[in-house]
Amino acid sequence: MEIDFVQFSVELNLRVLEAEELYRFYHSGDEEVKALRGVHLALGEGEMVALVGPSGSGKSTLLHCLAGLDEPDGGTVRVMDHVMSRRSEAEKLRLRSRYMGIMRQKDNLFAHLTVAENVALVQSLSKPNDAGMTEAIYARIGIAGRKSSLPSQLSGGERARAGLAVAMACQPSILLLDEPTGEVDAETETAILGLLTEYRRDGGAVIVATHNPAVARLATQTLSMKDGKIIDG
Ligand code: ADP
Ligand code: MG
Repeated sequence: MEIDFVQFSVELNLRVLEAEELYRFYHSGDEEVKALRGVHLALGEGEMVALVGPSGSGKSTLLHCLAGLDEPDGGTVRVMDHVMSRRSEAEKLRLRSRYMGIMRQKDNLFAHLTVAENVALVQSLSKPNDAGMTEAIYARIGIAGRKSSLPSQLSGGERARAGLAVAMACQPSILLLDEPTGEVDAETETAILGLLTEYRRDGGAVIVATHNPAVARLATQTLSMKDGKIIDG
């Protein structure tokens, strides 16, 4: 009997990232900020979730907890069925570099390293990458001509492209992007939109915090956050 594997995998819709009942509280002095208050979400292979909501609603905190860059005070994050929460930093780093590419709102590049050195550093933590693939990533992102530059020598748009090159350097299964088009020119925005479309067509999963309707339109699901909660979606 022949099995239709394409059909099978689509129906199965492998869950690549999952958050269960996430809580995150920040303390400064006597003040407590409840940045996440019981967030659930699930991201399947080839899906794209857009996180929208006002500034301060918890989007960045959620992305950082999902990536294991921040530790939730309650709840569980699972990456490819591996528990990410409450593990050692070394274990979180291993999971992150194996499966995830992350572009934060800012500070995606080490200031004393060139674009190419930033990319190589990320790659050195993950599986070996062939040089041809890396060049293809630069070309597709449109940063090939600037890979020997230091971050301080780049424009805002170029810095965003370089941040995306770092996020995609290890061909991750999951991309987490925090307002990737927040400070970029129209041409860079178009390049980012094209890249996300292609990445998803190849089976990649994306979770993106955004205020940009053009980015949100690419999503399979839009989740609205308010005061640390998902209020619809
Ligand atoms: P968004 O990305 O939606 O703008 P954030 O996740 O950055 O929201 O912030 C959610 C809430 O948590 C805000 O009230 C913010 O001030 C607070 N917050 C975020 N990071 C920290 C931190 N490191 N220390 C204290 N409070 C924080
Ligand atoms: Mg934010």
